[in-house]
Amino acid sequence: MKRCPACQRTYEDDSLAFCLEDGSTLVSEGSAASDLPATLIIADPRLTNPVRPETAPVAPVQPRPPQPYTQPQPAWSPMQQPQMYPMISPRQGRGLAITSLICAIAGFLLLVICIALGSAGANPNLLGGIFLLSALIGLVGAVLGIVAVVKAGRDTSPQNSKAMAVVSLVLNCVYLLIVVIILTLGVIANSR
Ligand SMILES: [Zn+2]
Repeated sequence: MKRCPACQRTYEDDSLAFCLEDGSTLVSEGSAASDLPATLIIADPRLTNPVRPETAPVAPVQPRPPQPYTQPQPAWSPMQQPQMYPMISPRQGRGLAITSLICAIAGFLLLVICIALGSAGANPNLLGGIFLLSALIGLVGAVLGIVAVVKAGRDTSPQNSKAMAVVSLVLNCVYLLIVVIILTLGVIANSR
């Protein structure tokens, strides 16, 4: 005897494979083992399909955010570290540019002090010494500025100190030009 699991009709003919009413696969009556696979086959996709997509994405999604969160952090710090290594040469160039800038400012300050002392009637030897010192500082600043521009020129990163190096070099060159003009004026004044 066979029974339909859908409509519960029973069929005496064991040769029947499907229910005549609804086409469901007939199961042998009294055979509980054949009943279970029939329900299990139906229950399996119903259980796995709704449960696994829900639990499977939920479970990986929860562990995965910590992984992307922890992975980008080491990924970012190695990214920053390789940037730190190229940063050494820009920093050296930046240091040179800053030193060059300080030289230019110091040169200008010494020149201003020199002019102030000169107008105050200070010792000409002292004035000459200060002027020579400021010229020397300007010269050192110009050389450092050239090196800084060359070093910054090699640095292709947007944080390079090219602009500062160029400004420092230009300031030192302007200062040296002023020194040369003052020296020339002094020579002309002395020759008269
Ligand atoms: Zn049926």
